Amino acid sequence: MKVRFWGVRGSIPVPGPDTVRVGGNTACVEVQTADREVIIIDAGTGIRLLGLDLAQRPTERLIAVLLFSHTHWDHIQGLPFFTPASVKQNRVVVLGERRMDRRLEQILAGQMVDAYLPFTLDDLRADLLIKEVHDGEKIVIGNSTSVLPRRLHHPGGVFGYRITCRGRTVVYASDVSHPLDRPDLDVVDLARDADLLIHDAQYTPEEKQQHVDWGHSSWTDAVQVAQQADVGQLALFHHDPLHTDDQLEVIEQQAQAMFPGAFLAREGMEIAIA
Ligand SMILES: [Zn+2]
Ligand SMILES: [Zn+2]
Repeated sequence: MKVRFWGVRGSIPVPGPDTVRVGGNTACVEVQTADREVIIIDAGTGIRLLGLDLAQRPTERLIAVLLFSHTHWDHIQGLPFFTPASVKQNRVVVLGERRMDRRLEQILAGQMVDAYLPFTLDDLRADLLIKEVHDGEKIVIGNSTSVLPRRLHHPGGVFGYRITCRGRTVVYASDVSHPLDRPDLDVVDLARDADLLIHDAQYTPEEKQQHVDWGHSSWTDAVQVAQQADVGQLALFHHDPLHTDDQLEVIEQQAQAMFPGAFLAREGMEIAIA
């Protein structure tokens, strides 16, 4: 499998001189499986760049699966600017959760009305299949890829995803919170023995004390999950918009001292999982 980070920031895009090395776009991760399925996780502003890249690839018809962890702004805002969704022959299967008693389709359409944009969800000409999935429902993609959504702690709820193909596993757990004294065992269980864990690392431990109910993790939470779940590599993800490249690189060194397989998810970075 190959994993590429198109957006690694949390909350709001932060372009500028202090975020050049790590990146300023919000959450979007591409997973290419060993049997060439394209899976996209979240549609933050990073998905715009992914769309441009997909358009350059030598396929007549794009078929992709787009998984939403949840529909907070920083995970959906790029969708209207994902140009493959406007190409008639493409097919995008969109999966996520019903939220606050509103259908997923209704929520996604809600950011694309005339007060905000000059076009609507219905104007996207690709074959968009929007489907709600449930906690623990095993999703099969193609011949040999399975995806397990797991409901985790975040305001309004969030899905973590465990993606497995031919014995290799990537786990995405962004926008998750843990109790103050220990990792959430549901996250540890989802991440068990994964080759790569992509985990929320918005805060330092000190910042987390000041944002207890905000639904995010500290980088030490992410390290503890990685250790307890015995994962191969840990990508620290969903960086705080206030954190500069310099600050994040200090966090990376501290994390690596505790867990050598830890690194900062950086925009444009590609990880091969063989
Ligand atoms: Zn977020
Ligand atoms: Zn969120």
